Amino acid sequence: MEDKKRTTKKQNRKISRRDFIGGVAAAASAGAFSLLPSCANIAQIMTIKRKRPNIVFIMADDHASHAMSCYGSKINKTPNLDRLAEEGMLFENCFCTNSICAPSRAVILTGKYSHINGILDNFTKFDGSQQTFTKLLQKNGYETAIIGKWHLISQPTGFDYWNILPGNGEYHNPAFFNMGKRKRYKGYVTDIITDFCINWLKNRNDNKPFCLMCQHKAPHRKWYPDKKHAKMYEDTNIPEPETFNDDYSTRSDAAGEQAMSVEHHLTHEDLKMDPPKELAGQALKKWKYQRYIKDYLRVVASLDDNVGRLLDYLDTAGLAENTIVFYTSDQGFFLGDHGWFDKRFMYEESLRMPLLVRYPKEVAPGSVNKDIVLNLDFAPTFLDFAGIAKPADSSATGMQGRSLRPILKGSTPQDWRTSMYYHYYEYPSMHMVKRHYGVRTLRYKLMHFYYDIDAWELYDLQKDPNELNNIYDNTAYADVVKELKTELRRLRKQYGDSDELTKKFLQDYLKKHS
Ligand code: CA
Repeated sequence: MEDKKRTTKKQNRKISRRDFIGGVAAAASAGAFSLLPSCANIAQIMTIKRKRPNIVFIMADDHASHAMSCYGSKINKTPNLDRLAEEGMLFENCFCTNSICAPSRAVILTGKYSHINGILDNFTKFDGSQQTFTKLLQKNGYETAIIGKWHLISQPTGFDYWNILPGNGEYHNPAFFNMGKRKRYKGYVTDIITDFCINWLKNRNDNKPFCLMCQHKAPHRKWYPDKKHAKMYEDTNIPEPETFNDDYSTRSDAAGEQAMSVEHHLTHEDLKMDPPKELAGQALKKWKYQRYIKDYLRVVASLDDNVGRLLDYLDTAGLAENTIVFYTSDQGFFLGDHGWFDKRFMYEESLRMPLLVRYPKEVAPGSVNKDIVLNLDFAPTFLDFAGIAKPADSSATGMQGRSLRPILKGSTPQDWRTSMYYHYYEYPSMHMVKRHYGVRTLRYKLMHFYYDIDAWELYDLQKDPNELNNIYDNTAYADVVKELKTELRRLRKQYGDSDELTKKFLQDYLKKHS
């Protein structure tokens, strides 16, 4: 023990701590504490145990980064999220690998792409017997909990405590499954989830480090605000986004054939009233946008308040210093951009996830990062901070993402990715966004729509950040297309995706939904 104590190499220190804690846990559970050498060592063990960081993972549902003031929102203010950004790192290029609710959640838990973890769409039951980061944390002495939206159909595994919404849940007086037992609660869902989280933190086993996944329903459709924010923005006109009247003239048919336009696809329940009869055309579209976006932002305002409430609790409980706080959303969202609501497309507003990370011990306050990071990286990051080895890529339990810890410490590894792979599968289905996969680099995005279409799109994000000009057929970009196709093939191979697999998934899907 003394030798271990004197070791200066960080790696060795990590291993010895881990091994030692594991041994102590085994001794404790066998009721064999008397076997330990001395009280001084027990005190030391407790110090080591306390040093392993806690994790609070706060995830919103469909919260686009351009509805956060720390990301430069032109339409709202989010003071509590801004506080998190000021105290930690803001990621400008965090992307999801499949922009839809259940798939993103499965990627986060497993650190694997959809075609490996099995959740390609919102209809499939998550196989809870597979490896997840919370199972590994649990096995290594963490107390784990998930509260709020789960959305993976099967019962959660890898959690000491779970209290989840059925499906998408409800905003007012929602029901929850508390460890499998259904109960309805009075109040507003975002407040209730936060209350449950704070109560869990108060009553947890404080001899263990913890991982709490606080997963909000907000601001998912159908955007019912709470009483406190119901009249917010009442006398304000929310500016429309620059691309509100995108006519899709340079794109493939996929953009024109979706069913998620503000103009045509918002329902009576989304709008909560019938449009004035005298409105038509552009005036009606504008009216619908105001109805939709105001409710969305009201729901976000409550979310922001509740993030503040949870951060305040971490402060008052003395937990802020040793707790890693993540704030993210399962994907982005179109806020009238390109005339749409919803997500699914690989276009920027849907692809980008907000990501704020605070950990005072390792992350410089107010830092901003531009590297390409993915939801695939979250699981390996948590394991890294907990001192647990990441299961290798090649094994059945392997994780395909990479730890963000060096980036969070301010030093991006030389060989960090400069491109990312995306694949969306849920079609034909709600909102009718066609199947597509693609590659995004720091400058370009190449997308391929397939199944009932065979179309490519290319965007130069430097010259055309709003993705209005598809330049796939522009001969000046022939070399870029060639390079990106090579990169796309390389990524598909690296992550184990292929045409054969894509064909198989499509056949399975059509059989299931015919
Ligand atoms: Ca979502």
